[in-house]
Amino acid sequence: MMEYKEIYNKLGITDETLDKSEKMISDLKDRFDKIDRLCEVNQLKVIQAMQDSRVSEACLSGTTGYGYNDIGRDTLEDVYAAVFKTEAALVRPQITCGTHALAIALMGNLRPGDELLSPVGKPYDTLEEVIGIRPGRGSLSEYGITYSQVDLKSDGSFDYDGIRKAVNERTKLVTIQRSKGYQTRKTLSVDEIGELIAFIKGIRSDIICMVDNCYGEFTEYKEPSEAGADMCVGSLIKNPGGGLAPIGGYIVGTKECIENAAVRLTTPGLGKEVGASLDVLRSLYQGLFLAPSVTASALKNAIFAAKMFEDAGYAVVPDASEQRHDIIQAVTLGSPEKVIAFCRGIQSAAPVDGHVTPEPWDMPGYDAPVIMAAGAFISGSSIELSADGPIKEPYAVYFQGGLTWAHGKFGIMKAYQMVKDTE
Ligand SMILES: *Cc1c(COP(=O)(O)O)cnc(C)c1O
Repeated sequence: MMEYKEIYNKLGITDETLDKSEKMISDLKDRFDKIDRLCEVNQLKVIQAMQDSRVSEACLSGTTGYGYNDIGRDTLEDVYAAVFKTEAALVRPQITCGTHALAIALMGNLRPGDELLSPVGKPYDTLEEVIGIRPGRGSLSEYGITYSQVDLKSDGSFDYDGIRKAVNERTKLVTIQRSKGYQTRKTLSVDEIGELIAFIKGIRSDIICMVDNCYGEFTEYKEPSEAGADMCVGSLIKNPGGGLAPIGGYIVGTKECIENAAVRLTTPGLGKEVGASLDVLRSLYQGLFLAPSVTASALKNAIFAAKMFEDAGYAVVPDASEQRHDIIQAVTLGSPEKVIAFCRGIQSAAPVDGHVTPEPWDMPGYDAPVIMAAGAFISGSSIELSADGPIKEPYAVYFQGGLTWAHGKFGIMKAYQMVKDTE
């Protein structure tokens, strides 16, 4: 088709890149069909939750001031609890980001003298200062909460012996990060998380199991809360916000855990009762409604990126044929120049700020310069097409998002060409 080639060529995509990508996409047809099916089921799950919670037009407008009796906010929390099949939920614009949601889940549920255990290796970079792995003002460590960690074995499996040894009478909460974050390990499946939780509950059933669910929502038929997790935590500017949520985080889980987190978010005595939703409710509802389909696009984009770069000889995690449990694609490019080229390619495909050139910078919370490509409608949103990479060994870039498949495809073609040009 003439128009098809013409517009790609005009936007700088060569015939060679176009032909290659068409070939890669035809190889992926079966995988893409499976993603469409997953999207359908998760879409119905969200609609059912909204109907069961009796979402009405009145829920879409918010409150001001204290926010007492904010039915839109309270109903949205019911919807989240229904989607994740938990007793309760805390979903608020006052939760500023995913790290904040994780921090209040931890700080609300841990007390001085308790120990936090990560049985899946080092947690996400920004949590290091929350926990006190790196000194942080106001960290859990300053409050006398200790931390212990058991790394995954070299083949990526759980070190069950190590975990059994690490659990002691002070172990109060176990944090399990589903997604790989800035690491090249594998992302955990909901089934694997379920096995780990069963093992931990087998040692002591009162240990709280929390899952950092960032980037994992709607990538499988089930969520970790259906596999035994007491809390699942994430960011609304990732998958569940569907690209529309302008801010926010969520915690879903048992009533007890959610109440503990709520009094840390607001104050003891006030808990969930205060917190005006202002004017964001409509986008939080509509974003959640779109989330299964946006996540499905992001999955297709990740798989397409894996296929293109794998074919070009780069190490990719996961590879193009593996099952997916999050929307992150790691591509090990091996040099700072290529990480920068990749990010610039993604940026040059953006609808917003497509003309700017990203540079590495010292981002708060990270221990190396990070380059980020994002031309997003919502600042920093990583469910929108984005890429980022710390400028350090092994020079891997982490690619994610894409509100639509067509946009993701274009961005990946651009990134591919720019990386090729450095070779
Ligand atoms: C993004 C992310 C976080 C932190 O979320 P922010 O919204 O960036 O604070 C935590 N854990 C994982 C695995 C993430 O991907």
